[in-house]
Amino acid sequence: MKKTLITGAAGFLGSHLCDRFIAEGHHVIAMDNLITGDLKNIEHLMPLENFEFYHHDVTKFVHVPGELDYILHFASPASPIDYLKIPIQTLKVGALGTHNLLGLAKEKKARFMIASTSEIYGDPLVHPQPEEYYGNVNTIGPRGVYDEAKRFQESITMAYHRFHGLDTRIVRIFNTYGPRMRLNDGRVIPAFMGQALRGEDLTVFGDGSQTRSFCYVDDEIEGIYRLLMSDYTLPMNIGNPNEITIKQFAEEIIKLTGTDQKIIYRPLPKDDPMQRQPDISKAKEILGWEPKVGRSEGMRKTFEYFKTLSKEELEKIEHRDFSKVNRK
Ligand code: UDP
Repeated sequence: MKKTLITGAAGFLGSHLCDRFIAEGHHVIAMDNLITGDLKNIEHLMPLENFEFYHHDVTKFVHVPGELDYILHFASPASPIDYLKIPIQTLKVGALGTHNLLGLAKEKKARFMIASTSEIYGDPLVHPQPEEYYGNVNTIGPRGVYDEAKRFQESITMAYHRFHGLDTRIVRIFNTYGPRMRLNDGRVIPAFMGQALRGEDLTVFGDGSQTRSFCYVDDEIEGIYRLLMSDYTLPMNIGNPNEITIKQFAEEIIKLTGTDQKIIYRPLPKDDPMQRQPDISKAKEILGWEPKVGRSEGMRKTFEYFKTLSKEELEKIEHRDFSKVNRK
């Protein structure tokens, strides 16, 4: 039985990865410090014999007994609001956490994958973004803590690959959505859906002309799995190229949810990228992968999930109290 360590396992993507690797017959070691993750995302896996949960912060030395075949480092805050609240943790999990896990992968001779991001392209001047584009990132802006940690993460991973011969994979994930997103993490999909469910107006930032390209989680996980199992070691974009402006997107959500609320406009956050769309030529050619779930189907499934949340969960502005965690 293959043994796989997944960090950030109680988070949105991490928990879906746990499901996938369990379905593939792996023994899964799930690791999370639960700052932004939530055990309810993986509680259905807890009774399984081939599933273990380690409550651990990967910025500290990581010990896992026995052999490991794969390590997937998916631990990181991943929303602009989180970066503002826990900037130092964000930097550390990308930098120190990655270093610790690379050391572990080297020791165990495990294949190592990091979750990189479209954010490494910053506010891109090349559109759509191919993997060869170096990006346009403000190192000291509010998103810099995430963007630069992720850029460092790619560099150190390639250094371990080239210097130590470590078997590595780098996936650049574009905006992904689906069940188990955190309702109040400030990202646009949970924000709009939460607002619709609470009967509030939808807050579009700026004039809403900025674009994003949203990928349904099942497609994203399939692409990640295929990349891990391939022998491709350079960074690869995995995302859905179907691009939309945020204003059009808000209008779609109003239709989907049947809310009679309207759109209101709020200031655009600093360094908010104006456009984003993955060039997925490489994923198509090398992995034979492309997204299958259209936005209307994906959004419907996601809205079904948010509708299952209790009124209490829905009303809480932020159910995470960051003052109680180690913010350093
Ligand atoms: N956004 C918005 N209203 C919200 C939350 C986000 O208009 O309530 C916008 C945000 O300014 C950005 C886009 O939606 O242009 C996507 O934001 P998100 O935080 O989901 O992810 P990003 O791609 O910016 O990391």
